[in-house]
Amino acid sequence: MRLRNITGSREFIAENKYVVHEPEKYKGCWNKEIFENDRPIHIEIGMGKGRFITELASMNPDINYVGIEKYSSVLLRAIQKMEANELKNLMFIRMDAEYITDVFAGDEIDRIYLNFSDPWPKDRHAKRRLMSCNFLNRYTQIMKAGGVLEFKTDNRELFDFAVDEVPAAGWEILKLTYDLHNDEEMMKGNIMTEYEERFSAEGNPICKYVITIQNST
Ligand code: SAM
Repeated sequence: MRLRNITGSREFIAENKYVVHEPEKYKGCWNKEIFENDRPIHIEIGMGKGRFITELASMNPDINYVGIEKYSSVLLRAIQKMEANELKNLMFIRMDAEYITDVFAGDEIDRIYLNFSDPWPKDRHAKRRLMSCNFLNRYTQIMKAGGVLEFKTDNRELFDFAVDEVPAAGWEILKLTYDLHNDEEMMKGNIMTEYEERFSAEGNPICKYVITIQNST
């Protein structure tokens, strides 16, 4: 379910203290200016209502988290979670991830999470998929060498596409499963997203990979 049109959500976000406004101003200085520490920065792109990143941030106070979401009315739900339980190590950005390299500099990000990303099923829209070669090349430009990306989905066709894109973009697969919830090792520490809960309850197996890039730019 998309909550794209909640009245006033855009205005609410424009004034919210948990949202980084004009994020491109902080390119290269997120640690210094936003988090005021030297801890690693992990981001989730397309976080939806934010359950996953909120839980991660509350479990890992020594890591800085940034949740990125395109739609105000969805981001609003993540902000409401923060208002109920404020976390110093979590901030949000409302933006299209297409412009991610305007916001983070090379070597700034340690880990990226993509959870149940939109499939864009038509071939002509493949470049919009957040795990396409097109996007992996952008991530390469913001990652530390040895940085890691984790992707989960119940969409097998999308997952097969994503796996094919990995070597083409110069990344390497570290771990992969086609049935996460029955994979004891990869399930350790798993945090369910809103979509994961829904699709796994319907009996859909969840696919996941963990990939890395050695040579960031
Ligand atoms: N990750 C959440 C989960 O697993 O429950 C939400 C999954 S939902 C299918 C995909 C989310 O990604 C939507 O909230 C959508 O608005 C967001 N999204 C899609 N494309 C995006 C983009 N280019 N930049 C930022 N967010 C995007």
